[in-house]
Amino acid sequence: MKMTQINEHCYYSQSSVNVGYVHEGDQGLLIDAGIDASAIRKVVRQLDEQGLPVTHLFITHAHADHFGGASYLHKHYNVKIIAPPLEASIMQHPILEPMYLFQGTTPPDEIRNKFLEGPPIDVDLIVDEGRHTIDGIELDCILTPGHSYHQLAVATHDVLFAADSYFGEKELHKHKIPFLTCAHDTIHSLEKLKTTNYSGAIPGHGKFEEDYHDTLEANIAYHRSVLKALYEMVRISPHGLSLEDVVSYMCARFNVNAEQLSQYLLFRTAVGGYVKALMDDGDLHCEIENYRIMVKASS
Ligand SMILES: [Zn+2]
Repeated sequence: MKMTQINEHCYYSQSSVNVGYVHEGDQGLLIDAGIDASAIRKVVRQLDEQGLPVTHLFITHAHADHFGGASYLHKHYNVKIIAPPLEASIMQHPILEPMYLFQGTTPPDEIRNKFLEGPPIDVDLIVDEGRHTIDGIELDCILTPGHSYHQLAVATHDVLFAADSYFGEKELHKHKIPFLTCAHDTIHSLEKLKTTNYSGAIPGHGKFEEDYHDTLEANIAYHRSVLKALYEMVRISPHGLSLEDVVSYMCARFNVNAEQLSQYLLFRTAVGGYVKALMDDGDLHCEIENYRIMVKASS
């Protein structure tokens, strides 16, 4: 985990979860905070060693691997925390993630772990899509929902910090069924980023690339292939499939590793995000039969 400088102002620390950094005079803004205190400590130690300030933290979305280290930064660096609406509410009440993953039922202790629930934080400044100048740091915030409900990617000094709007190709294939809450929104956000032309981009998981458009295209193609596989699976089932079977068959088809309840719930939500997109298109619909949600192809 080494801090790499992209240009005069922008840096990133590449790890399983990337952390961005923007230096502006006596201000220094981190973009995301890693999964826990230990992960972010390794990042800020390097900044300290180079005499670079740590004054602000921008959190792109409320997933524990991106904000778990935020309470450490607040406590030890008194950073001003900036985040998008809705995501900020989840970070203030982080039980909401295990709660929504468990379909609203009070989540069992087993899933209240650091992968799904970070320490709570208070966000100092809520920002939405658009250009913001925060204490002299200019940020272009780009709304990129789909992976999370109200995720913001951040562009500054001609670099795009893309959050989890896309994954590096290696990471995409590693995840097999990438986490998302709506495949439609995900693809729409990717199309939106394709129209940008920054000097380079870095996703939350993956490597920095000067030309990131091929990777965006590969993400779109991948999501479309998952949608196609799901639709075909339902279409060839004469009576449709229960939603639980759709999840089961998709996890088997993509050979995912979902042995723990926490992992399974992430895949279940992701498969649901693909089903939802196909419902929006009118390709699939749901019916309740024998107290089960049945997913059926629409003729
Ligand atoms: Zn995420």
